[in-house]
Amino acid sequence: MKLSERALNLTPSEPRRIYDAAQKYTGVIDLTLGDPDLPPPQNVREAACRAIEAGKTRYSANAGLIELRRAIAEDARKEYGMTFDPASEIIVTVGAMESAYLSLWSLLNAGDEAIIPAPYWINYGEVVKSLGAKPVFVETRPEDAFVVRPEEIEKRITERTRLLVLNSPANPTGAVIPGETLDRIAELVRKYDLSVVSDEIYSHLAFDNRKPESILTRPGMRERTAVVTGFSKRYAMTGWRVGWTLAPAPMIRVMTQMTENIVACAPLPSQYAAIEALSDRTDESYIRREFEKRRNCVLEELKTIPEITSTGIPATFYAFLDVSRTGMSGEEFALELLKAKQVALIHGSAYGGAAYRNFIRIAFTMDCSELRKAFARIREFLAERQAGKGDRQ
Ligand code: PMP
Repeated sequence: MKLSERALNLTPSEPRRIYDAAQKYTGVIDLTLGDPDLPPPQNVREAACRAIEAGKTRYSANAGLIELRRAIAEDARKEYGMTFDPASEIIVTVGAMESAYLSLWSLLNAGDEAIIPAPYWINYGEVVKSLGAKPVFVETRPEDAFVVRPEEIEKRITERTRLLVLNSPANPTGAVIPGETLDRIAELVRKYDLSVVSDEIYSHLAFDNRKPESILTRPGMRERTAVVTGFSKRYAMTGWRVGWTLAPAPMIRVMTQMTENIVACAPLPSQYAAIEALSDRTDESYIRREFEKRRNCVLEELKTIPEITSTGIPATFYAFLDVSRTGMSGEEFALELLKAKQVALIHGSAYGGAAYRNFIRIAFTMDCSELRKAFARIREFLAERQAGKGDRQ
């Protein structure tokens, strides 16, 4: 069978390589996966069960249940102070992944360029490439806490640039783009007549009372922005596969047509659960509080390991850490740590190439006691390497 060039052009997944390597060991502590271990709120789980028992298990409209789109419109009003028409400006998707995919699909022609701040969530690079378009990366720096510099975005803009992907708070760095930076980016987007795909899936997982802002609320941005988000992180509902997009009506129309061709709709019991999730009856704040506690554990543990440095973790459940003082690249660190101590984590270059070769990403999607065990193993690993070096001298 002859596969398409597009299919063959996909880059083998680096996280998958580490994950596969980890399968060879027993007792692995897995810090690779961005998949919360917490259950969704009780009332949300009950709503899904009720839907199943009541036989609400068939297809819905391609754009999702209108009741859910109404609930999303109400949520958007609270989040952004803006009104969205549930019938024409919102689509419910199979996770934020379908939302991201369809947003890029509806905006990019082959040969177009999409600017993506790096390090970036791997899907963005792969999807842009699979559409025959070109991802153009803008590197962010640890000294800027990985916040993209607007002037560096501007340097990458060409006559082929169609859109900019923003992901604040970001996977893999946890970076949150400050309001003033969003103002400057919005200015560029208007000046060069671009669109924005704004992935806000981690917006409810920000710590220390931070409230991440959205480019959507900047003047003139509503007609240029597609917001990509969903229930996976905010309500710990990764496997339920529900997300959504807010965008101008013509874009939602083509996304809905395409959804009919690929998935029909998001799973119906999950859509009923999602309606319950957005209702006033739900208190999901335990999820953020739990991740804030874990974030604090990670920062405490890091204080005991001077060879690993962090620029802070203002949001998300990821830490992007510099391991250059260990004398190892991120990839060496990941592979050797797995072999020696059975802790799995991903090297930074997986998320943005050579510029991040000295970094690793950990996902702290497990409780503090398990995290402390992982850091104890990392300390042992570094101490044993140090001792080994001494022996050789
Ligand atoms: N965007 C980002 C930045 C993510 O990290 C993820 C999940 N890892 C998603 C979107 C997709 O989430 P979902 O489960 O809603 O498809």
